[in-house]
Amino acid sequence: MPTTTQVRLAQRPVGTPDDATFGVVEEELPALEEGQVLLRVVYLSLDPYMRGRMSDAPSYADPVPVGGLLVGGTVCQVEDSRSEDWNEGDWVLSYSGWQTRAISDGTGLRRLDPAQAPVSTALGVLGMPGFTAYAGLLEIGRPQAGETVVVAAATGPVGSAVGQIARARGARAVGIAGGAEKCAALLDEFGFDAAVDHRSPTFAEDLAAAVPDGIDVYFENVGGEVTKQVLRHVNKYARIPVCGLVSGYNATEVPEGPDRLPGFLGLVLRRSLTVRGFIQDEFLRTHGRDFVRDMTGWLATGAVHYREDVVQGLENAPEAFRGLLTGANFGKLVVQVGEDPHRTS
Ligand code: NAP
Repeated sequence: MPTTTQVRLAQRPVGTPDDATFGVVEEELPALEEGQVLLRVVYLSLDPYMRGRMSDAPSYADPVPVGGLLVGGTVCQVEDSRSEDWNEGDWVLSYSGWQTRAISDGTGLRRLDPAQAPVSTALGVLGMPGFTAYAGLLEIGRPQAGETVVVAAATGPVGSAVGQIARARGARAVGIAGGAEKCAALLDEFGFDAAVDHRSPTFAEDLAAAVPDGIDVYFENVGGEVTKQVLRHVNKYARIPVCGLVSGYNATEVPEGPDRLPGFLGLVLRRSLTVRGFIQDEFLRTHGRDFVRDMTGWLATGAVHYREDVVQGLENAPEAFRGLLTGANFGKLVVQVGEDPHRTS
């Protein structure tokens, strides 16, 4: 009988998920029934939203129950099939979570063609994070030629796509990232017009110098100190797609300090700002097809580059996940759970 190794939510974390958050279990899988397939997980996507699923605080999605399998997007290969739709060896995008094998009845599987693009990109630039950048920027941010677009977590899969799509639309892209190496990649690898290190003691001055004409679109990925500085420079009629607030995902309480809400709302009023939160799937129906067409085209012409951070082994997923929330990753974080015959490095 095939087995699966699973990483489950052993207990809800308080603050940073520690080792006690995660429990590893090995299980035998039952024999396949008619219509089912056995999936071998090759890549597991690690994404910031998973921190929300570990907690039972109010959210847009249900939490993982204590003892439950941690959720996550995966790229898998069909290992065995009793379905007419799938053959052994087929590649699929799935949502089978933190485990090495899974049984599926085919619901929600999407076929992948390894000849078209490396299969892992279905979790990054050609998948949910790339789509988040595309839909959030174009639908809410609406950058115009010559405008200034600012994004933080800018070397990640969402931020790097935001900056490059902004440039493809003729806007000026300013990226904020943690550390000199990431800032260099923003300029040399991703073609941003300017890069600002939020860890530098001169961050506030450096940001001011990078946006001499103010900011027309701030694609909000991080919140916290970065946002505080960015808001000083927003222009009249600026648009702020609120995509994520990763700097606070491990927070256990509201930061101390004066109530900043009246000041923020005053800014929204005085500068006629548009601040709009979104969860990417609301745009799938309206923008899904255009995204695949445009992003495939941009990758082919070199207008968009992507970077992956591949961690080996499911056992290293908890540590890698902790690093995602503090900036230890450099590019789209995926865990390689099984062998990929197409990967050369
Ligand atoms: P990512 O950029 O690969 O990883 C998160 C990055 O956040 C880290 O690498 C780090 O980069 C940065 N960061 C962490 N703590 C920070 C802090 N205190 N201040 C500033 N930056 C900090 O992640 P991603 O997958 O592209 O996601 C980016 C954002 O999009 C997240 O907020 C995520 O929740 C959100 N998201 C939203 C949706 C949606 O539907 N709304 C969908 C996907 C993702 P540096 O080292 O550069 O600081």
